[in-house]
Order: sequence, then C-alpha cells, then structure tokens
Amino acid sequence: MDTKSTSEMDHKLLNASWPGKETDKPRGWVAATKERPLRIGIPNRATFVEYVTEDHGTHEIQGYCIDVFNASLRFVPYDVPHRFIPFGDGKSNPSYDELVRMVSEDVFDAAVGDITIITNRTRIADFTQPYAANGLVIVIPNRNSNSGAWVFLKPFTAEMWGVTAAFFLVIGLVIWILEHRINDDFRGPPRRQFITMILFSLSTLFKTNQVDTISTLGRMVMMVWLFVLMVITSSYTASLTSILTIQQLSSPITGMDSLIASNLPIGYQVGSFVGSYLTDSLNIAKSRLVVLESPEDYAEKLSLGPTNGGVAAVVDELPYVKLFLSDRKDFGIVGDMITKNGWGFVFKRGSPLAMDLSTAILRLSESEDLKKIGDKWFCKDGCEAGRHVSDPNQLHLDSFWGLFLLCGSVTLTALIIFLVKTVRQFVRYKKKQRDLMSQYSSATSSTRCAQAVYSFFDFIDEKEEAIKKMFKQYEDPPSIAV
Ligand code: GLU
Repeated sequence: MDTKSTSEMDHKLLNASWPGKETDKPRGWVAATKERPLRIGIPNRATFVEYVTEDHGTHEIQGYCIDVFNASLRFVPYDVPHRFIPFGDGKSNPSYDELVRMVSEDVFDAAVGDITIITNRTRIADFTQPYAANGLVIVIPNRNSNSGAWVFLKPFTAEMWGVTAAFFLVIGLVIWILEHRINDDFRGPPRRQFITMILFSLSTLFKTNQVDTISTLGRMVMMVWLFVLMVITSSYTASLTSILTIQQLSSPITGMDSLIASNLPIGYQVGSFVGSYLTDSLNIAKSRLVVLESPEDYAEKLSLGPTNGGVAAVVDELPYVKLFLSDRKDFGIVGDMITKNGWGFVFKRGSPLAMDLSTAILRLSESEDLKKIGDKWFCKDGCEAGRHVSDPNQLHLDSFWGLFLLCGSVTLTALIIFLVKTVRQFVRYKKKQRDLMSQYSSATSSTRCAQAVYSFFDFIDEKEEAIKKMFKQYEDPPSIAV
C-alpha cells in the first residue's frame, strides 16, 4: 500500500477534542473533570491524626488513608480529578455517620478516611473493598501496673513494715538481756555487743544464727519468734507472687460477656459507630456509655476506674488501640476481637468509582505498597522497637531495680569506706616508715613512686593484724638499727 498517501492524510487531521472539550488524551472513563473535580469529604481528625487530618499550618490534607487513596488511584484506568474537603472543626473528631450521610445526600461525591464499613452505612452509600481489616477490642488497665521498682515493699503496709522492724530490735534486745550473763558470745566491748545483738536478730530471718542461745528462756523466745517469722515470710512470698504474676484478676472485665453483664461504665471514641453498636446490637444501656475525646482521656478515665468517675473499659477499633498502647504500658487488651470490620472509601449509591477503586485496592494490597504506606505512618522508629509485646508470665527488671539499687549502693558504700580506711592507714604507715628510714633511702623519685604502688597492693594483701603489729613496732622501735 502507499504509505505516503496515508501520512499525507494524517497531516490534514486536526487535534482530537474529547468530551468536556479536553484536548489531552483521556485514560478511559471520566468520573470528574478538572472544572468539576470530585468533592471528597475528609474527617478532620483531632486525635490519632496519623490516619487523616488537615495540617493546621499548611492546611494540607494528609494521613495514612489519604496515601492509600492516592496510591489506589494509580490503578484506576482514568483520571479522577478531586478536591479534599475537611469535615469537622479539627478540635474534636467529627461524626462518621454524619459524613457518610452527607455523601448520600450529595453534599460530597465521596468520603475518604478511616471509615468503618457497617450495615447502617452500606444502606445509604456504596463502600469500596476494605483497605484495612480491623475489629473492636476491649482495653482495660493493665494487670501488671502494680509492678515497679519498689514492688517488693507492696506486700506489707507501712504499719506492718514498722512493727516487723521494731520486733527485730526488741527480740535482739531481749535475747541479749537473757544471754548476756551466761553466754560469752554476748559479752565483750559494748560496741561488739551491740553489733552482735543486731546481727543476731537479723540472722534469724535467714535461719542462719551466727550465735547460739544458751539460756532456756532465750531458746523459748527464739522458738516463738522463728514461728512468727515463718508465717510472716511465707505470707510475704505469697503476696509478692500474686502482685507480680496474677494481677489480671484485678479487673472484673475478662471479655465481652463480663463487660455486658457488669453494670460498669464503658468508654468509646467520640464520633465513632461504637456507641450505637454497643446500645443497638449489644443492648448495653446508654447511661453506661462515656464519650472519650482523646487518648489522654482514655488513659485518665481507665486509671481512675469505675468507682472514681472513670470507666472500667474502653471499646474501640484495633488500629486506634494499637496506637494508644504503643507508648503506654499500663493498659492492655482483654479477650478476643468482638467484631471483624474493615475501613473503606465511601461513594454515592451506584457510582462506578466504588467498583473501580475496589479493584484498585485489591491490586494495591497484592503489591508491597500498602505495607510500605503503613510503615511510613506507623513505624517511624522501627515497628518492632516501638511495640511492647511481652510475656505476662515473665518478670522484668522494672520490678526489681529498686532492690538491685539498694544492694548496689550498700556494696559500693562499703567498698568506698574500706578503701578510704585502707588508704589512710597506708599513708600513715608510709609516713612512719619514711621517718625512720629517710637517711638510708637513695632511690630516685620515679622508682619511689613505683615502689609505693607496689607496696600499696602488698599492704592491702597483708593481714590487718600484721599491719597493726608493724605500727606498734614503729612506735616502739627495736633496739637494733637497720
Ligand atoms: N472508624 C470510626 C468510624 O468509622 C471512627 C472513629 C472515630 O470516631 O474517630 O466510625
């Protein structure tokens, strides 16, 4: 064929003009035009703003849901010019039911955000496939909130600690009185006697009496005291064990059934469908529900507890709860997930976009991109590091560092006292030695220094008795000179 004549014809053709007077080649079906972009309602969130919100400074609409939406649009075979319109005052989360209703009433063409797909909403608008699976969970104050550095003090009240300590002193004193006249171990210089008395009563705690009692009366007192001690120590052990391990029984809520059966107040997030779900589907009295504004509000009301104007539990969707728990250790999830929902984008009834975006969301989830978007928003400091996943049956250092601190500081103080005492003794010894031998010394200053260090370690190594003897010798030098 004559290619020449075809190309000549091409030259005569004008630029194509597409419906809507567009000159750019369309990518397919046109959902909206540049002149009339899609009006997309966005929940202007005030809390958990990582999901979607309007930036206060730049007024830019941003968040995980927005990124997912934009990424899905790439898989739609035509252009979707759109405009995000924030819904809500930004001070409190807006009502999501209201947002969906506005789509059905043509105020918006669509709504994009963390909007849960529930029956009431699917009746009035079309949802895409869920791009994030989630469900409702129950959050309660954590079982191990009682653990802390000073947890070992908690089994007893201050009064009990006081009386126990006083009894140690009294028993020591009584035993000393009873033994002093007949037992050599309780005799000697007053200082030694006092130390023996204190150590004696303390050593009974560990059943390692350093000193034996001889008197009948003393033995009788000891028998009763050891029995009391046995009861006290075993009660202490039992109480500490329960504080550290089985505190989960401290909350009466163990799952959905006990939550419904109890009459305790329940918190839920403002604007969420959870309120109507609890009253309509689970028949929980409205008077039991408390609207909570923010994660700080969750923490405060949960810590207060149901008897002090707080709540016994908070019911919310897992993604929010995960964020809430990511930097708080005092709360935890109890029981299983109550419902299985998902988040989707909302479109007007019959909109072909809902179908096309569903396909796009499926393609996005099959690619790595959806996970990458999640990591970008929720794993800023590395996902694994930020999560407090711990085995509740394991005890952590948190519960014991107080004890280690106590032991460490006593040990360090003892070491410092020993070193100061020994160095002082060494200096005294050296001075005495120098005084006596100064005329015979011919060593240079550097060798003297080396000698001094060498001698200090020798000095420590030496038995204290021998050193004391040496002092005596210097004070009272032998008649034969060196
Ligand atoms: N995802 C919830 C819903 O669709 C909204 C939660 C909230 O109130 O912030 O109802």
